[in-house]
Amino acid sequence: MTTIEQLYQHFLKYPVICTDTRTITEGCLFFALKGEHFDANTFADKAITQGAAFAIIDNEVFAKNSNCILVPDVLSALQDLAKHHRVQLNIPVIGLTGSNGKTTTKELIRAVLAEQFKTFATKGNLNNHIGVPLSILSIQSDVEIAVIEMGANHQKEIEFLCEIAQPTHGLITNVGMAHLDGFGGFEGVKKGKAELFAYLKAHHGFAFINRNNPYLLEMSEAADLNKVVYYGTEKENTISGKLKHSDPLIEFEWATHAATYQAKANLTGTYNFENILAAICIGHFFELTPSQINNGLANYFPTNNRSQLTKTERNTVICDFYNANPSSMTAALNNLKTLNAKHKTAIIGDMFELGSAAAEQHEMVARLASNHQIDTLVFIGKSFYAFKDEFTGHFFPSPVEAKAHLQANPVKDSLVLLKGSRGMALEQLLPLL
Ligand code: ATP
Ligand code: MG
Repeated sequence: MTTIEQLYQHFLKYPVICTDTRTITEGCLFFALKGEHFDANTFADKAITQGAAFAIIDNEVFAKNSNCILVPDVLSALQDLAKHHRVQLNIPVIGLTGSNGKTTTKELIRAVLAEQFKTFATKGNLNNHIGVPLSILSIQSDVEIAVIEMGANHQKEIEFLCEIAQPTHGLITNVGMAHLDGFGGFEGVKKGKAELFAYLKAHHGFAFINRNNPYLLEMSEAADLNKVVYYGTEKENTISGKLKHSDPLIEFEWATHAATYQAKANLTGTYNFENILAAICIGHFFELTPSQINNGLANYFPTNNRSQLTKTERNTVICDFYNANPSSMTAALNNLKTLNAKHKTAIIGDMFELGSAAAEQHEMVARLASNHQIDTLVFIGKSFYAFKDEFTGHFFPSPVEAKAHLQANPVKDSLVLLKGSRGMALEQLLPLL
């Protein structure tokens, strides 16, 4: 069996990790992970034929080739290798979790810090027990600071990811109604996310805290954090900010105790203001100048279907169909309400992973939407469909029926919110808008 130290020597020579034979690159290390429907041990030979320097496997039956490295468990080897690499990287790592806005905030922090430092940030949404180690292992030795997104849908997951990423600084964007089934309700979400604060406390790390969020305050007090930097709307915070408007893009001012600055971002959605303030707070903490911070923010254009404003031939669409849960859906609907438009449409799809709270949460969102003076309201998915007789609007059990409806009744000259859980794949409706 190969030890992690030996594996690390290979990694230093072959620093690109692949876990999928469809994306093998010459000289990579292939980690043969197991999925629900496959065991990549069976692909080890193929990976080496395709150019992998070594295949890391945990089933000796497939160790046919001298380039196969046998370990007790491939996933643990990947995670331990990442831990080992993290220790060698003597840099600040900002760990980021929260129910909503992690990826957006991560991108904003990256955009700001990159004005001053060679910055690494998690690519896309690689935020789980495989994504976090892969992210850590992509940090090269010249990187000066890293931002690592950590996602969770059950207890102890953030604690586990912290052991890998070893954050020196941390931020919880917020706690909301997300992954309720895995966490065991809202109190469970708070407990699970607070594992980041516990890690920071134990390792003398800094936490950035939105003082406007009572749950985060309560959690940080319970964790007895002493290295804390606050941001929020009130002047007493290290960074304070005032939203001027978000119609459709955000304009605001922000202030330190010494001065006030005007700024803009290419994001829509009042809820994004707190994400922006978090990025400013972190930029300021790492001693970037106000103009570096503002440039970083102004140069970030979302391309990831999160709060992305898209002009189509007929409409303006808020593409927010990357995901949804009750908190982000509420935020998106409240935002639509505040925007100025002659005609407004909301096309909203089911929110997944709500466990026993699903019916009550869909009813809450359907009620909210119907009270928001939205001209055209379309609900898609079985969970919303159950309320078709209770609220006004067009209800369809799946996107197929919704497509047919939109083809027959095209939406025109409207400001459209398109949002639902990933599994609803509402992007399929965009060509009809
Ligand atoms: P995931 O759990 O999929 O990784 P995430 O936490 O990374 O999600 P983002 O992808 O940044 O979150 O944003 C997803 C959606 O959440 C956005 O498109 C928006 O609707 C909503 N959102 C973003 N920021 C906030 C916020 N601060 N409060 C509430 N909702 C938000
Ligand atoms: Mg994300």
